[in-house]
Amino acid sequence: MDFSTYIRDIEDFPKPGVVFKDITPLLKDPKVFQKASDALLGFTSNMQIDKVVGVDSRGFIFAPLLASRLGAGFVPVRKSGKLPFKTLSESYALEYGEDTLEMHTDAILKGEKVLVHDDVLATGGTASAVCKLVEKLGGEVVQCNFLIELTFLNGADKLNGYPIKALLQY
Ligand code: 5GP
Repeated sequence: MDFSTYIRDIEDFPKPGVVFKDITPLLKDPKVFQKASDALLGFTSNMQIDKVVGVDSRGFIFAPLLASRLGAGFVPVRKSGKLPFKTLSESYALEYGEDTLEMHTDAILKGEKVLVHDDVLATGGTASAVCKLVEKLGGEVVQCNFLIELTFLNGADKLNGYPIKALLQY
């Protein structure tokens, strides 16, 4: 299936000069949504996964689905100040300023095998911060998977050493 037909380019969102990949056409079509979940699941076939970490907020769409179908637990990573229990945080640089992501300190146990999922890999700042959080807790990132990789932003360079998979590359 050509998933790219279901990804819509939105110019000047969220700010002028940015072309945003809108995944909602893919989500709203029942067959395509199902096939995209199956395809993401195929990236980890025969792998043992203990936890699937989903990134606030569009990572929360597929990560719990994948976790449930893999027989793994789901762990949310959130923007700072949103998680209620004790957290670990990791800051990363944005074009202007920085952002902070948090994970509960008891979310991952030492030695657990972790799949990191988000909708889009752009510059890689987000996903690399998430991998650092997983590793601080002693987890092992066995794959980072995405619906979309924007290869021209070279996010893969920041995820050096982690296996990366994406349904679509631009
Ligand atoms: P990065 O940290 O890799 O530069 O940015 C990735 C994060 O920003 C992801 O959490 C993703 O949801 C969001 N993001 C960046 N660009 C896009 C885009 O074009 N479309 C969507 N849907 N999300 C994006």
